[in-house]
Amino acid sequence: MKKSWMELVMALLLIAGAYQISKEGARVVSQRKADQAVVVLDAGHGGSDPGKIGVNGEKEKDINLQITLLLKKKLEKKKVYVILTRNSDEGLYDSGSKNKKVQDLQNRVDLIHAKKPDCVVSVHQNSYTSPEVKGAQVFYFTHSAEGKKLAEGLQNSLVEDVDPENHRLAKGNTSYYLLKKTDAPAAIVECGFLSNPDEAKLLKSKDYQNKLADSICRGILEYIKTDKKSGKSQKTIT
Ligand SMILES: [Zn+2]
Repeated sequence: MKKSWMELVMALLLIAGAYQISKEGARVVSQRKADQAVVVLDAGHGGSDPGKIGVNGEKEKDINLQITLLLKKKLEKKKVYVILTRNSDEGLYDSGSKNKKVQDLQNRVDLIHAKKPDCVVSVHQNSYTSPEVKGAQVFYFTHSAEGKKLAEGLQNSLVEDVDPENHRLAKGNTSYYLLKKTDAPAAIVECGFLSNPDEAKLLKSKDYQNKLADSICRGILEYIKTDKKSGKSQKTIT
């Protein structure tokens, strides 16, 4: 009896020790170096908000998160410090909130302001009444010069890497909450149209998601580099 008690105590101590080590390890890994670029990736929607629904029932929130998680890995390989607004199928609202959508968006913006990133990329999927409409498009806040620069770079890389037939240009917008309220350079990437049967199929596939993530990663890296070269402040005055 005594021996088994001792064994139990020893086992518990070992587990506690291992937990402490893994906690320390995680802390070290997640610590940001002083000169490390910081990017916030925002997977749009989540939880009770599915976003757009595709022609075959695809949920925008799921595709957004899948692409965002791939993109995170790719940026981290390039030594970028990445912060996600969500890493699971959860919105940023309290379950009892009267207006979950407003609270969700406010919390995303608050998180961005607290982290002061070099840039923010929000990943979404589009939808339209005409099923033939397709192609990625990137949006920025009309009055943000840095947001425009980021969005145009992302649009270029998406056209070059993913779909050279796509003739869309990055577009200014004055009403999207996240773009309007965020003081860091920000862009919303609408990766494609879930209302287009071919594109909906592609957007669901891992290969295409990887291609999109590679391309968005390139656009972000080019933006960060350009910004550092010019020596300009990375903050946008909006
Ligand atoms: Zn969306």
